[in-house]
Amino acid sequence: STPKPPAEEITARDVLIAVKTTRKFHRARMDLLMDTWISRNKEETFIFTDGEDEELKKRTGNIINTNCSAAHSRQALSCKMAVEYDKFMESGKKWFCHVDDDNYVNVRTLVKLLSNYPHTQDIYIGKPSLDRPIQATERISENKMRPVHFWFATGGAGFCISRGLALKMSPWASGGHFMSTAEKIRLPDDCTIGYIIESVLGVKLIRSNLFHSHLENLQQVSKMEIHKQVTLSYGMFENKRNSIHMKGAFSVEDDPSRFRSVHCLLYPDTPWCPPNIVY
Ligand code: UDP
Ligand code: MN
Repeated sequence: STPKPPAEEITARDVLIAVKTTRKFHRARMDLLMDTWISRNKEETFIFTDGEDEELKKRTGNIINTNCSAAHSRQALSCKMAVEYDKFMESGKKWFCHVDDDNYVNVRTLVKLLSNYPHTQDIYIGKPSLDRPIQATERISENKMRPVHFWFATGGAGFCISRGLALKMSPWASGGHFMSTAEKIRLPDDCTIGYIIESVLGVKLIRSNLFHSHLENLQQVSKMEIHKQVTLSYGMFENKRNSIHMKGAFSVEDDPSRFRSVHCLLYPDTPWCPPNIVY
């Protein structure tokens, strides 16, 4: 069959990629991302953090100190998501994509995926975090509650929202509204996004298997397919270290996340990648 033409010709410049991080992970996680995928996508990538860092500032102008608390609380994380949303709305870009600081983003495949959809339509795309809708309780008023259930894309795998949909989210997501919406269901930031989109607006999550978090077994991503994935991750899964499995430019000792090896596979002309490697 002939390949489907894109719904819309877009480039990386049409996408705002928001990376959520916290001051204590700047050295441990952000430096790796700056060395790898962000170095190729500086213009479109914005870093949302909670503390000053001269070292990181030297590497990109796109650092946003959210003034949110550096605690790992629901409120602190919702506070950051609210700032990400507002920054996207102000940017005028066509697509908003959120990722964590333990994600590798293959921006070429991300752009290819998004070009299948018109940004003016209601598009919410990512990987569902559970195998069934989440059950929650919505606080309607002081003493009135009702059960709700909806799907949401796990923030740790990354997800994207079209501008058309983001505009409709505004009454529940803009300014201080995101924080109060999150309080209504008392769930984390990525669940709150799913709540606004699926439960309030009635728009369905589009599932993609190209987004990956460390809450899945990353060994199952085959090496042949690595270049086709939109996001990758590393971390812990069922109390074990979890990362994709690939032979590459660097050993597991030198590159435990495998992100440097992935980066050399995708961008072999990178100065620090060993030359003439046959993968
Ligand atoms: N994070 C944050 N503040 C914190 C702890 C974590 O903003 O106090 C961010 C972190 O930088 C990452 C995301 O939240 O982007 C998820 O954190 P982590 O990967 O440590 O946890 P998990 O994936 O297990 O939820
Ligand atoms: Mn994580």
